Amino acid sequence: MKILIIGGGAAGMMATATIVESGADAEVCLVDKNAELGRKVVISGGGRCNLTTAEEEMSSLVAAYPRGGRWLKFCMHECPPGDVCEWFEEHGIPLKTEGKKIFPISNKGTDITSMFQRLFAERDVEVLMKTAVTGIEREGDGFRVRFEYGEKYCDKLIIATGGHAYRDTGSTGDGYTFAQALGHNITPLAATLTSFSAAEEWISDLAGVSVQNAKFKLVGKEKHEWSGPFLFTHKGVTGPGIFALSSLSAFEECSAENPLKLFIDFVPDFAYQELADEVDNSPKVALGKILKKYLPKSLLKVIFQDLGVDGSKVVSEVAKKDLNRVIESLKNFEITLNERTAGSEIVTAGGVDLKEVDQKTMESKICPNLYFGGELLDVDGFTGGYNLQNAWATGRLAGLSVLAADAGKTE
Ligand SMILES: Cc1cc2nc3c(=O)[nH]c(=O)nc-3n(C[C@H](O)[C@H](O)[C@H](O)COP(=O)(O)OP(=O)(O)OC[C@H]3O[C@@H](n4cnc5c(N)ncnc54)[C@H](O)[C@@H]3O)c2cc1C
Repeated sequence: MKILIIGGGAAGMMATATIVESGADAEVCLVDKNAELGRKVVISGGGRCNLTTAEEEMSSLVAAYPRGGRWLKFCMHECPPGDVCEWFEEHGIPLKTEGKKIFPISNKGTDITSMFQRLFAERDVEVLMKTAVTGIEREGDGFRVRFEYGEKYCDKLIIATGGHAYRDTGSTGDGYTFAQALGHNITPLAATLTSFSAAEEWISDLAGVSVQNAKFKLVGKEKHEWSGPFLFTHKGVTGPGIFALSSLSAFEECSAENPLKLFIDFVPDFAYQELADEVDNSPKVALGKILKKYLPKSLLKVIFQDLGVDGSKVVSEVAKKDLNRVIESLKNFEITLNERTAGSEIVTAGGVDLKEVDQKTMESKICPNLYFGGELLDVDGFTGGYNLQNAWATGRLAGLSVLAADAGKTE
């Protein structure tokens, strides 16, 4: 049996490793257009590679995928994050947990790609690097895969070419065209896990200011709520809480004509009345002094400027309505988001229509012997290791299924 895997990212590497480690009698070929395997793995998690999550509870795990979570359930049962961790540790990558994020102890994504490289060399896998697939045609029950220079026939084909975020890593969306050519529908695509730019000019004064725990409401055609840390940038806002909102609203327009409104509660642990009472009870203390334990000074300065309130005045000298406006601002600060910051997207939402892929095998329901894995599928998760978990798990299941299908045939 000839098996060809297109894409040497997380999903393709894991599918290949699964097949070659099974000892099956198969000719395995992994093709990638880059010079090195796993370029996205190497840059992920700021180079430290947050390779999966410590989330073990299935309902919470699948809830971390705004698209595809329910469909992934079988796959996540077959290859849960705990099994992924075990697999890497058995392959010489000791891991550590930070919060719910899992990283190699070395903090080096390159350790993971080196491990796969060694494995493929030991098992004599044919790895064709700098080889861009340009087209795929059905040939009998198999496939004719065309490269820039040359071609190859395979009985089973796994496409794991990723999405089209961070295109300079090689993920340029080619797999969408290949899947379509083989009869598949591609659901609408959108950027997800993005930063946002804001209309307010003062935002650049806050660049670098971070808030550890805020509560957000994002209002466009739909309303989304989330809590988490975030950071002001020169142009707008970014950080885990913002990425989650960008994911929930991935298919909503965000432009100067149709902006999204972001409402931030900077002090979610304190009720409005609690703050009002604290201010009222300190009439001889400067308003700014009372509030600086809740917010960074630069942020308070912007709030005071925006409202035209003098924060250096003692509370008794500030009009009651201004005190209320300041506290309202802390609890419900409004920013106008007018763009998903160009080039900031980490993942592509949308992809190969899940209705057309068997969730128990990753095999196409339209084109037998064709399998998919990774971000190419209409699956995307929040930050925290969920996207790589999707790639490892679907890649592994695709690899196992290719082998199972062949074993079934020879029995
Ligand atoms: C900056 C950044 C940081 C991230 N950090 C994290 C993180 O910490 N944790 C996490 O879980 N997720 C993270 N992600 C997301 C995660 O990296 C991806 O979802 C995951 O790597 C996708 O894996 P994949 O195998 O599906 O596709 P990819 O990694 O995109 O791999 C696809 C491969 O296919 C190859 N290819 C494409 N077209 C062709 C063709 N025509 N011919 C031959 N080869 C082709 C490409 O060269 C590429 O190597 C991050 C993403 C980015 C961009």
